[in-house]
Amino acid sequence: MTTELTSPQLAAREAELLASIPHQLLIGGRWTDADGQAAFDVRDPATGAVIATIADASPADGVHALDAAVAAQHAWAATAPRTRGEILRRTWELLQERTEEAALLMTLEMGKPLAEARGEVAYGGEFLRWFAEEAVRITGRFGTNPEGTGRMLVAQRPVGPCYFITPWNFPLAMATRKIAPALAAGCTAVIKPAELTPLTTLFLAGLLREAGLPDGVLNVVTTTQAGPVSDAILADPRLRKLSFTGSTPVGVKLLKSAADNVLRTSMELGGNAPFLVFEDADLDAAVDGAIAAKFRNIGQACTAANRFLVHESVADEFAQRLTARVTALRVGRGTESGVTIGPLIDGRAVAKVGALVDDAVAGGAELLTGGHVIDRPGTFFEPTVLTGVSVDSAIFRDEIFGPVVTIVPFSDEADAVTKANSTQYGLVSYAYTQDLRRGQRLIESLDTGMMGLNVGVVSNAAAPFGGVKHSGIGREGGAEGIHEYLETKYVLTPDPFQS
Ligand code: ADP
Repeated sequence: MTTELTSPQLAAREAELLASIPHQLLIGGRWTDADGQAAFDVRDPATGAVIATIADASPADGVHALDAAVAAQHAWAATAPRTRGEILRRTWELLQERTEEAALLMTLEMGKPLAEARGEVAYGGEFLRWFAEEAVRITGRFGTNPEGTGRMLVAQRPVGPCYFITPWNFPLAMATRKIAPALAAGCTAVIKPAELTPLTTLFLAGLLREAGLPDGVLNVVTTTQAGPVSDAILADPRLRKLSFTGSTPVGVKLLKSAADNVLRTSMELGGNAPFLVFEDADLDAAVDGAIAAKFRNIGQACTAANRFLVHESVADEFAQRLTARVTALRVGRGTESGVTIGPLIDGRAVAKVGALVDDAVAGGAELLTGGHVIDRPGTFFEPTVLTGVSVDSAIFRDEIFGPVVTIVPFSDEADAVTKANSTQYGLVSYAYTQDLRRGQRLIESLDTGMMGLNVGVVSNAAAPFGGVKHSGIGREGGAEGIHEYLETKYVLTPDPFQS
């Protein structure tokens, strides 16, 4: 796992950290081998080197994990909300103390620069702290029925055992965003992290146990058989909820399986975020926002700006200023200081981004910088800016998930809104304008679950994250987040003063 770029001390630190991460499934509070001791390799995308070999769960292992979650459900729901909250709070504290380990682990298995990985520890950890606080604020209501003959009680009860499927792009935050609200609400769970980045979830599960989480409340299955393991769990009548973050095609398939078992679902799916720059925008702020919205996480975020729609009068100026900033980005292994762009997650991602860029150029787009695979070990693609992109090109329609800016001019606000909304996705939009009334109009006319008005990053544990249309169902974070894991129960009692 060393590279010529890593000093021996850093390599030793990486080896020590990797050796400390559990390599087995967590089922019912025990670290357990997979069926037949099956195992698979985890690689560093910056070097291609194997960094760990971990248990590869079978569908039967998945069902055993659900057995454990079901067995723990009753006692966990009956545990005092304050106790549940304090376990989450303690986990947050442990994570703060171990920020450097968590960050390095994410950089090693996912590739993001260390500074960004530290940012994810802060952001992802915040869900633990936020929902520790929300655990004790689950309330209901009590009242007299309109006829005056009875008393109506409305309570919020935990949904029951949950199944979480998480993606590789934010290995920590996508896990805490599901685990923290579920546990706060009194639900138990099985989590299946992405096979490309399972180590952070194993590390997090270790912290939860250290913080006192009872056996079986959270179970972890790592597997290369995402489909068969998930099918077995989703078909089990004891499961009550699916929460998935990933691509829309996989989400659609999972929704069909969930329908057969009438499961509650939370789905955080793909995005195709428009980033609008109006002629009255502060262009410096817009360029700063564009860098954050596009290049955070090497462009591999469902909230990444995918289409830069810029008023024709400022399109050239914006493109020039942005290109100057993009050419200054430093590509490399995320552990190297000063690196701002790490590798893409794997060769498949590099091939997809390359094909989208080639197709756009063949369709008449102009390459201002980048556009090519970088010839070095690992899976790197040059930070790229394309202008004159056709709205009919695949790069305008598809989620790029890479460090590529595509600029399309628009003529007026109506044209901008039409172009922005011309997608089946509706996760987030960004708009830069100094005109307050225009900003207010855009809040109502852009068809997305979230919006950044003169900002390039919107994520916050205190905010309801989620999309409309094919970007998903439900919200994670904020006051809304815990309700994804609560079911309303209504009770009627007779008027106690009538005999
Ligand atoms: P990406 O293409 O970005 O990897 P995916 O939607 O394929 O996004 O992956 C997100 C998560 O969904 C990962 O944990 C992956 O293992 C899981 N996954 C992929 N295919 C399936 C499937 N058929 N059933 C259940 N989970 C799946």
